Amino acid sequence: MIYQSTRNNELEVSSAQAIVAGLAPDGGLFIPKEKPQISIDDIKRLAEMNYKGRACGVLSLFLSDFMSEEIETCVENAYSKEKFETESIAPLYGLKDDAYILELWHGPTCAFKDMALQILPHLLTTAMKKTGVDKEVVILVATSGDTGKAALEGFADVPGTKIIVFFPDDGVSEIQKLQMVTQKGNNVLVSSVKGNFDDAQSGVKKIFGNEAFAEELSKKGYQLSSANSINWGRLVPQIIYYISAYCDLMKSGAIEAGEPVNICVPTGNFGNILAAWYAKQMGLPVARLICASNENNVLTDFINTGVYDKNREFKTTISPSMDILISSNLERLLYDLSDAKTTKEYMFLLSATGRYEVSAEIKHAISENFFAGYCDDSDTKNTINKVWNENSYLMDTHTAVAYTVYENYKKATGDETKTIIASTANPFKFNKSVLGAINESAVTSASEFEMLEKLSGITGQKAPDSLATLSEKEIRFDGKCEKQDMQSVVDNFLK
Ligand SMILES: *Cc1c(COP(=O)(O)O)cnc(C)c1O
Repeated sequence: MIYQSTRNNELEVSSAQAIVAGLAPDGGLFIPKEKPQISIDDIKRLAEMNYKGRACGVLSLFLSDFMSEEIETCVENAYSKEKFETESIAPLYGLKDDAYILELWHGPTCAFKDMALQILPHLLTTAMKKTGVDKEVVILVATSGDTGKAALEGFADVPGTKIIVFFPDDGVSEIQKLQMVTQKGNNVLVSSVKGNFDDAQSGVKKIFGNEAFAEELSKKGYQLSSANSINWGRLVPQIIYYISAYCDLMKSGAIEAGEPVNICVPTGNFGNILAAWYAKQMGLPVARLICASNENNVLTDFINTGVYDKNREFKTTISPSMDILISSNLERLLYDLSDAKTTKEYMFLLSATGRYEVSAEIKHAISENFFAGYCDDSDTKNTINKVWNENSYLMDTHTAVAYTVYENYKKATGDETKTIIASTANPFKFNKSVLGAINESAVTSASEFEMLEKLSGITGQKAPDSLATLSEKEIRFDGKCEKQDMQSVVDNFLK
């Protein structure tokens, strides 16, 4: 399988090279030259396997330059009993009628980013060996919360790697901060940065752009790399669970082999829903992809009008992992629906003016495949409350955005196609908002840990151990730096 840049299809690399590089040198994203196809018979065969078997089957189609033993080792290490609380890894829960919840949060950090960040370190170290890079890889992350912890858990004690995470001093929740500063592992470093997320993010970008520093590190045997969601190695593992969910529906008799389903995804950076689009392109019987946003509804407007316009107020919501105005992975969809030249033009306009409008053909292709909607915080809370009271199912704020939009879609279209709804976080991870949705008066100004206990008490559900025991864990990192000192933090750690 050959990979190309979304901005230049003469640039061709192997999957191992694409994973090591992360971003294409022309600023584009790597995409597979062709979409491997799966038939209904292939799906039937995958349905007889467990998650790991399905993962090997899907990954081997995209990572054709990896040996099957290499893929098996990566999968074994990533989706293990020690890391995931259920052997089905991504279980499907039949909520009601046509709605099935795909729970993607049974990994170590209680959010769906584990699905990819548990396997990325193994794919990356394997890819480095294959491409003859004999350096130790140093992952730099600036995080506003979920990604940092998931990357730390993924890379902790993985041989041949080190990871450094910077988080903004004022910008992450108490639980998110504790999740990071108590991280175990001999190859990890966590530091807070005085400032906000943008300060941390620009600091990291500056380090990446410093060629002299890269040279210096190279002499010491290190190479910097990134674990953010534009790396192909983070996207490809996400295709697996959509195919796996379809297999589960088929196996349970909920659908016939070949029957189309819809997939609804709470969307931020357009990574998770893009993986569903790829599954559809591969031949998985998918009718409609439902793109759900919160009040940062730039994607809703884009899908409905063909105009992408990020020039709008940034809103802080109770589904913070979707608070985003530039959805980087949309570039890959645009490429699929046009060509490198057109994609490059749109991306140029986006960075120059914050706005672009796609052609009528692209707009048409998008509306054939996608439905888009959004909801505000109050609808999100109402949904959590209603689903809890009517179905005794507790959902987090991001999942509730998806479920609200799914219900609106059903009302608008009358479509009764069975629908897989991606559930992206354990409700206890966003406990304060979830508690408030269920019982407004239970929320006080007390610590998040008290809220955790309250939510557990009211719902009779157990908070995940990894969150409940956080307050007892040893704090390993209390470093705080000025934004201009981030490079020396990296330098000192690597001495
Ligand atoms: C990252 C994240 C999302 C958004 O996923 P994208 O791939 O960026 O669209 C949604 N929900 C949760 C809980 C997340 O952590």
